[in-house]
Amino acid sequence: MPFPIILSSPSGGGKTTIAHKLLAIRADVGYSVSCTTRPPREGEVDGRDYHFLSVENFKRGQAARDFAESAEVHGHLYGTLRREVDRVLSSGRHVIMDIDVQGARQFARAFPDSVLIFILPPSAEVLVNRLKSRGTEDPKSLIRRFKSAKDELKAIDLYQYVIVNDDIDSAVEAVSSIIEAEGLTRSRNGTLGERVEGLLTGIQRAIDQYSKRK
Ligand code: 5GP
Repeated sequence: MPFPIILSSPSGGGKTTIAHKLLAIRADVGYSVSCTTRPPREGEVDGRDYHFLSVENFKRGQAARDFAESAEVHGHLYGTLRREVDRVLSSGRHVIMDIDVQGARQFARAFPDSVLIFILPPSAEVLVNRLKSRGTEDPKSLIRRFKSAKDELKAIDLYQYVIVNDDIDSAVEAVSSIIEAEGLTRSRNGTLGERVEGLLTGIQRAIDQYSKRK
């Protein structure tokens, strides 16, 4: 059974890169393209990176209950479309989402079978440098992101798994291993009851057979 996977981290934690690399190596995972009211950055494509919406259209979507979760992040609105999640899950693939902690909290309430993974930067220095090297941020918005990084870190208890992103390929491997392990949990194995029943019947048959030979 496919399930939702949420990746969160403070800005600059590397979750978007991890999600994209994971999609490149696993055909059984699809990406939910979020909506946002922030303007596109250079190189971003509407419909691929985000659905870029006006505030008015975003609010219309909220009123129509189009979103499985939505939140204001760094002064802009972001949301996960229910139909995006359904599209991926109904194709039989796990759906991966790169969303903030407020969104993760709401989403996990609506989809309790979600797997929540927090990506930690290896150090504050790395986080600060990653944010600075993006070069798209003025000091005011950098400070805003540093402050929200602190808030995001405080929400770590919400998450079942934590990965320290000191090497991108190892972090991708770790997410992939989590998906494998989660797929094997008892609660996700819908046919387990029948399988165990079958085994019990077979064993009982053997007991009966050997009992007759005694
Ligand atoms: P960025 O603008 O840098 O792409 O993303 C800023 C933040 O918004 C990141 O923490 C990202 O995870 C979060 N974000 C992206 N999409 C969504 C979404 O659909 N819902 C929520 N709640 N947060 C999102």
